[in-house]
Parts: sequence; structure tokens; C-alpha cells
Amino acid sequence: MIEETTVQCPYCGSSNVVEVDIRANSQRTVTDCDVCCRPMEVRIEIKDGEILSLDVSAD
Ligand SMILES: [Zn+2]
Repeated sequence: MIEETTVQCPYCGSSNVVEVDIRANSQRTVTDCDVCCRPMEVRIEIKDGEILSLDVSAD
């Protein structure tokens, strides 16, 4: 099951939508900012289908 969530780019501050598979446990993904195209690392903690925490950092 995929859920969309919004993260803020650590470089330019723009909001980006990322898709999260909430069946998975904690995951890490690298996505490019829609605006400045720089890669950011998104770490997501999931428990029982709910996003517990979401952390974005410069890759
Ligand atoms: Zn950006």
C-alpha cells in the first residue's frame, strides 16, 4: 500500500511529494528535489501501517 507524504527539501526548502510503502518497516530512500534537482535522503519509520517519523537530510 502506497501513501503519499510531503517532505521539505534540505537545500531549497521546497515541498516534495514522496511515495512511501507503508507495508514496509523503516526504510530509506534517496529522491531528487523537484525544484533544485539535488538528491536528498529520506528516512521513514513505519509501524503498523502508520508513519511514525520522517527525516530528511542532504545526501
Ligand atoms: Zn530543492
